[in-house]
This record gives sequence, structure tokens and C-alpha cells, in this order.
Amino acid sequence: MQPIKHVVIVGGGTAGWLVAAGVGKMYHGRVNITLVESDAIRTVGVGEATIPTMIAFHKLLDIPEPEVMSAADATFKLGIKFRNWGHIGEEYVHAFGQVGRIFWGGEFQHFWKRGRNLGMDIPFGDFCLENVAARAGRFAVTDNPVLNYAFHIDAGLYAQYMRKFAEGLGVVRHEGTVEHVDLHPESGEIASVRLARGEVISGDLFIDCSGFRAILSEGALKTGYENWQEWLPCDSALAVQVEKAGPTVPYTQATAYGSGWIWEIPLQNRVGAGLVFSSKFADRDWADMTLRQHLKTPMIDEPRLLQFKTGRRKLAWNKNCIAIGLASGFLEPLESTSIHMITSAVIRLLRLFPLNGIQPILVDEYNRQTREEAESIRDFIALHYHATRRNDTPFWDYVRTMSVPDTLRHRFEMFRESGMVFLVGEELFRHNGWTQVLLGQGFEPKLYQPVVDNMSDSELLEYLKGFQEHVAKNTSMLPTHDEFLARYCVSK
Ligand code: FAD
Repeated sequence: MQPIKHVVIVGGGTAGWLVAAGVGKMYHGRVNITLVESDAIRTVGVGEATIPTMIAFHKLLDIPEPEVMSAADATFKLGIKFRNWGHIGEEYVHAFGQVGRIFWGGEFQHFWKRGRNLGMDIPFGDFCLENVAARAGRFAVTDNPVLNYAFHIDAGLYAQYMRKFAEGLGVVRHEGTVEHVDLHPESGEIASVRLARGEVISGDLFIDCSGFRAILSEGALKTGYENWQEWLPCDSALAVQVEKAGPTVPYTQATAYGSGWIWEIPLQNRVGAGLVFSSKFADRDWADMTLRQHLKTPMIDEPRLLQFKTGRRKLAWNKNCIAIGLASGFLEPLESTSIHMITSAVIRLLRLFPLNGIQPILVDEYNRQTREEAESIRDFIALHYHATRRNDTPFWDYVRTMSVPDTLRHRFEMFRESGMVFLVGEELFRHNGWTQVLLGQGFEPKLYQPVVDNMSDSELLEYLKGFQEHVAKNTSMLPTHDEFLARYCVSK
């Protein structure tokens, strides 16, 4: 086993700089870290919506939240508002918070379902503080009430901030395009990368953050790719920036159209938007026209086409190379999971870091965790399509009737028959996520957990009403999102 003394990161997008920041923070002084990025190859730069795990990552790095938010033009996010997903004209919010209370005998959806059977008409989302606050445009970071939140960020500015942070920890940046990758003749491991200028950078551990190109893990090591387009058929996006108007909403918007959906992500000074679609069912002209018709404010730049293949690299860690970010695969941005998958890969790497040398058991564990994480997120995203009741276009017909992975089919049927959701291991999306999406898209279970019948009708209805009033009262105590942003972010 050869101890790891030099880590080489190829790629300076969000993934590359987050890896540099994480490894730099934890191992600086113990390993040398070099990051190679090419000014000639631009980053994807559209990862703008995040999920709450980012807060823990910032804490790990000791980064002050107001500082990074100001640097990245960031706003707060309490969830995602989905329009036209269950059926055209319907909408719901998948918020980050707890819906109702957790009971040992059965989750809150069972109490809600029985309430519905008794004639109660309060929407499921009204029992979640984050859900109600999102729709009311209110937000604060407070001890009472505590909101679970994430951010909308300008990905380019965020990567710049992380670059400064990582360089401050001794990470050395090389500008240049990698043109060739040298492999050890016997082990087949990566020995060095050669830049167009002729410079050779050798290392012991290589992190492939080169985006969709995956120049190390695929280009050099031919790791292979597991294609998930059968379940996630969208393969293209038109991304654009538009001017901002009106109050800043504390949620991402995902509005479905005939063959895809539009995202809208509010930043402090602009809105990031784009249309994700399947080229099997629609062409660029349709996407361009649909996007322009949807957007209510002028575009700041021209829409940019991005193409991708949903799926994952067969091995995230192969020999002495770990693919992180888009180089490791892509699930479409419907639940804003890509940057989360980068930060969780960084944390996994830090925990399994092979300082004394690469041991097969560490590699296998890293790959097992990565695969499980990706598969469970894949199922959750596919759920949004499969749980539609839309049949107005061939695209919605396909996703509604497609065969889904067994894991998803089982969960879907379990919910429909019994209202129950059982999780496996450390899944990212928990009961609150699954129930908000399923019920939000109009899938009511046939039954509820009988333990709920331990309460009398009047006890149950009183409890539900009281809970909703409590949530509404807590929401009304919050300032508007814009008021709080102005107070919280440090001036630039
Ligand atoms: P990139 O940004 O592509 O960076 C690649 C880097 O590699 C660049 O620095 C480039 O210069 C370098 N490089 C490439 N080849 C070479 C070479 N030969 N030599 C040297 N350097 C090289 N994520 C979210 O979390 N939330 C979202 O809302 C979200 N929305 C998205 C919407 C769309 C349409 C898409 C496509 C992605 C979205 N993502 C989102 C994903 C997010 O954009 C990425 O996960 C994130 O930007 C990380 O990208 P990356 O750093 O892996 O790759």
C-alpha cells in the first residue's frame, strides 16, 4: 500500500472546489492538493437550488452562513412548489419540514387520512410550518420557531467563494487543459495528467471533477455508465437567467408542461430559470417557445442548451480515481440533489480517506454507499413522474405507465394500499418527502393505520384543527423573506 501524499483534482466547477475545500480543511498539511481547471472549458454553472444538508457542510468547514450567502447572491429555500404535476392546474409544496407530529404507532398521514374520511378539508401541507411559511413568503433563522431550510445560490459565485477558501488552506490551482492521462503499465492506475502546455502533474489519488466529460474515470479508466433514461427520460435543458420582479419567494418553482418542466430559482439579484425536457418527445423549438411564453420578466442572456444522460458511473471509485459531481453521473435537477450528492461524496471521502494507502475494503464501502444513495434518489425523482394522473401528451402517458424499479414499485403500492412508507437505511428523502409528494400529486391511500382509531372522532378533529392553528400562528410571527434577507446577509 502506498500512502497518499498528493491528491490531484481535475475540474474547477462546484464539485472540484467543494472537494478541494473539504479535503483541504480536513487534511491540509498532511497531503498536498492540486486542482487543475481549464479556462477554455466552461463549467455547467446552473446548480442553483440546494437542500438543507448544505448547512451541515458549511458548519463542517466553519464557514459563516451570512458571509457565504452574501458572496453567492443567495436566498433562502423552504421547499419546492410543484405546479401541474398531479394534474394540470394543481399545485403543492414539497417543504423541508416535519408534517404534523411523529407518533410511535403511525405517521401523521394516517391521522390526516382519517380526518379526511370524517370530512376535514385541511390540506396536508397546512400541517407543516415550512410549507405554510413558503407559501406565505415568510422566513427567519430563529430558535422559535425553528425552520429547516436550504439556499438558492449563484453557482459561479459560490465556486469562486469555495476557491478562495480552498486556496487559503494551501490548495494549489493550475490553469490548463488536460490532454492526456498516463496510466501505470502494471496496475492500470492513473500516474499523471498532461496539460496542453506540456506540464505533467503526477499524484497518488485523483479526483475526477471534470463534469460530464469524466476524462479520468471514463476517458482513461473506461469505468462504464449505468443508464437510467428508461425511468428518467429527460435528457436536455435550456438554461437562462432572467430579471427579478416582485418579492423573493423562499422556494424553488417546478412547473410542468407537455414534455418537460420549468425551474425558477430566485437569487438576490436575478432569477435562474430553465426548461428540462426529453428530446424523444419534444425538440428545441418547442422548449424555446414554451420557456419564453412562461417567463414573465426579460431574459438577461440567451437560453443555453445542456444535454445529459441520466444514470451513474458504474464505480464512483475505480482504482486510484474517484469521480465526484457530474463526472459520477446525473439525476435530473427536479429535487435539487446534485450539489447535495457532491457534499455527501466529500464527507464520505473524508471518512474513508485512504491516507495510509488504498484498501479494497474502503473502495467497496465507498462504492456501496454511493450506489445506495443514487438509487434511492433516483426512485424519489422517478416518483414525481410516475405518480402523475396526466394523460394529455405522449410524454406524460409514457412516464405514468412506465415500468419503474422494483424498489419504487413496492413503495408506491405499499402507500396506495396502506398509507405506509417504510424507509431502508440512510435514505435522503424521509417520510415527510414521500408523503408530501404522493399526497400532493393526488395519491390518497385506501386505508390508514388502525392505531389512529384509538382517538375518538372529536378528539382527532380537535387535535388536527389545533395543530393547524398552531402552525398558522407560528408562521404569522415570521418576517417576510426579503425583510429577513436584508437583515441577515452582510453587505458586499
Ligand atoms: P462542471 O461544472 O461541468 O465543471 C467541470 C470542470 O472541469 C470545469 O472547471 C472544466 O474547466 C473542467 N474540465 C473539464 N475538462 C477538462 C480538461 N480536459 N482539463 C481541465 N479541466 C477540465 N444541482 C443542484 O444541486 N441544484 C440544481 O438546481 C441543479 N440544476 C441543474 C440544472 C441542469 C440543467 C443541470 C445540467 C445541472 C444542474 N445541477 C443542479 C447540477 C450542478 O450543475 C452540478 O452538480 C454542479 O454544477 C457540479 O458540476 P461539476 O463541477 O461536476 O461539473
